[in-house]
Amino acid sequence: MQQLVFATNNRHKLDEVADKIKGQIALLTLNDIGCHDDIEETGFTFHANASIKSHLIYHKYHLNCFGDDSGLEIDALNGEPGVFSARYAGKHGDHEANINKVLINLKNETNRKARFKTVISLMWEGKEHFFEGTVEGTIRHEKSGDEGFGYDPIFEPDGYAVTFAEMSLAEKNKISHRAKAVEKLVAFLSAV
Ligand code: IMP
Repeated sequence: MQQLVFATNNRHKLDEVADKIKGQIALLTLNDIGCHDDIEETGFTFHANASIKSHLIYHKYHLNCFGDDSGLEIDALNGEPGVFSARYAGKHGDHEANINKVLINLKNETNRKARFKTVISLMWEGKEHFFEGTVEGTIRHEKSGDEGFGYDPIFEPDGYAVTFAEMSLAEKNKISHRAKAVEKLVAFLSAV
């Protein structure tokens, strides 16, 4: 069976992809290949950050590999927090502080349009392929719901009257940016 490295150690993300690939390809994490490098996301676009991961692994380990990068883009904030989504309020992964910063920055703002985006960079047999997924929505004025992570409590996807944090994981995974990008990756892999 062919092997493919997912440049992450996030089990949840790996399971989501593994579930969709359904045993066609053996997925490996960074830990599985003995890579303990701290891969820094120094790019200024989702594409650049996703590429940093896939290129590093492909060139260092000579294994097919993909990396991903995601974030929230808010129109009234000129696309912020964007690539800085995880560290918008300073400390990496302080979701509570990140949400508060968004709500303060959008105070009195009527244009609440936003989207989550995922970009996957796949290095396959020496060639790079990108897969993107987007989900459009609006930013609520207050948090609502306890499911999910990150900005989920303030993001209401278009066509729904609930936030991502009020959906079950299964429901969110049907329409999320990550799911859409992963589905495109899986379609590509099914055809190779
Ligand atoms: P990552 O590149 O998937 O690790 O995402 C970077 C950051 O974007 C996360 O730390 C979150 O702040 C935000 N983010 C990405 N995807 C989601 C999501 O599905 N829900 C909420 N926040 C997300």
